[in-house]
Amino acid sequence: ARAALRESRHQPAETTDGHRVEIAANVANAKQAAAAIEAGAEGVGLMRTEFLFLERDTAPDEDEQYRIYREMTEVMAGRPLIIRTLDIGGDKQVPYLNLPAEENPFLGVRGARLLLTRQDLLYTQLRALYRAAKHGPIKIMFPMVTHTVEIEALRTHCARARAQVDGPVVPIGIMVEVPAVAVMADRFAPLVDFFSIGTNDLTQYTLAIDRQHPDLAAQADSLHPAVLTLIASTVRAAKASGTWVGVCGGLAGDPLGARILTGLGVDELSMSAQDVASVKAALRSESLAAMQTLAERAVAASTPEAVRAL
Ligand code: PEP
Ligand code: MG
Repeated sequence: ARAALRESRHQPAETTDGHRVEIAANVANAKQAAAAIEAGAEGVGLMRTEFLFLERDTAPDEDEQYRIYREMTEVMAGRPLIIRTLDIGGDKQVPYLNLPAEENPFLGVRGARLLLTRQDLLYTQLRALYRAAKHGPIKIMFPMVTHTVEIEALRTHCARARAQVDGPVVPIGIMVEVPAVAVMADRFAPLVDFFSIGTNDLTQYTLAIDRQHPDLAAQADSLHPAVLTLIASTVRAAKASGTWVGVCGGLAGDPLGARILTGLGVDELSMSAQDVASVKAALRSESLAAMQTLAERAVAASTPEAVRAL
């Protein structure tokens, strides 16, 4: 079975009734991106740029970031590439940034909230991204967006950074990982070029369970029908406004999760490279119609166990 999976990893994720889903990978650098393409990924749906800031003593400057993002465009050779801006705070801390300690870092100044208060970090990263975008397609994605006004502010900063370096127009999207955004997705969709649903944080914030809690983390189950209901509402709103919607949380890399998400209508699934071949195979083995029925039942279920039993 392993050999057969390996053999078929470059075949598209096309359901038996001809519906195709984009399959992408979550990576931290160009080396992982190359390995993901070799593993069958058709793009990068999430580059986590916070890894550029970890395990060092100073922040990477604009030139260093530019070289890294440019290298990403070279490895991707025109394939889709979504680069997420710095998602520091929460579980990921960076001592040299001298950020104030917080009682509840997951509910604190993390992701886009941090960038909006630390415009030094924001502009360094945006200028590097717009410079790199001259070498190949890039999409910019902001994490932890909660309010529509944040998008307006971020778009203004993007336009300014772009003008400073004479960069090309780049699609600007957001992670949907705060329940407020999923609930009001109809009001966010018209403001962005794309959505990517972060099921890890969306699950943590919906169920009020710390995703790293030693006793509770196992209950932070993205197959919880409450989470699936929020995903369904997000996809519905995205479709209604013609907004592209992907999923880059752990649920995308789970064969059952991937079938439910496909049934809900997502355009792309982005996952660890190691999950690409098995998710593609799972999607090729069934019809979209069957996955739509599965998704409807999953959303209507009462527990994650009931979803797994479907
Ligand atoms: C998520 O929250 O689902 C996600 C993809 O982002 P991260 O795991 O980096 O928080
Ligand atoms: Mg997240």
